[in-house]
Amino acid sequence: MTYTFAPPPVVSVPVIGSGARFPVHRIYCVGRNYAEHAREMGQSASDPPMFFLKPADAALVMEAGRTAELAYPGLTHDLHHEVELVVALGEGGRNIAQQEALRHVFGYAVGLDMTRRDLQGQMKKRGGPWDIGKAFDHAAPIGPITPAAQAGEITGAEITLHVNGELRQHGWLSQMICSVPEIIAQLSAAWQLAPGDLIYTGTPAGVAAVQPGDALEARVGGLETLHVRVV
Ligand code: MN
Repeated sequence: MTYTFAPPPVVSVPVIGSGARFPVHRIYCVGRNYAEHAREMGQSASDPPMFFLKPADAALVMEAGRTAELAYPGLTHDLHHEVELVVALGEGGRNIAQQEALRHVFGYAVGLDMTRRDLQGQMKKRGGPWDIGKAFDHAAPIGPITPAAQAGEITGAEITLHVNGELRQHGWLSQMICSVPEIIAQLSAAWQLAPGDLIYTGTPAGVAAVQPGDALEARVGGLETLHVRVV
């Protein structure tokens, strides 16, 4: 096989307790999966969650023990943080039943669904696609993946985001409108899921802007903390 130019490198995420890395296939995101966040965005909490995607190379991977540097993107004056549980799939499939869904999970990580809120807002008004607000470079910071067996039962875990040491977002995974099995079942009805897919599962209330120089600490109980600095 000869290519016209060198194919891009595989985006991969470190795995806790392993020398092997998790190769990223696609990045799916769930919008509006916590009622309080839906309300702060001016939407009804009874509307069903929605899905969108980010390109795999939008992942900003934090290496274990390090801080990832997020380059403040262009075109925006309102870059928002959204702390989220990330589900990493080890097996794919179509039309996966809820009862079977957790068997497809390789592990979990903490992620940030970074959002150019001003551009997303303009697109919402125009009824246009959200990509320019959601799918830019460095839009998907992610910490190391903890294998599911080590993470244990995380459905009741606390999820928090601190910026410069100050608490900005707080919630519990139990507040998710769609649970992880429901999300996998719904996504797999719409797309052929594959090993390497990451799913950002939505954010609790408290989203707000960050500035260059800010230090973000994103946590989900039982998982490796994600450290990001905006530069
Ligand atoms: Mn989000």
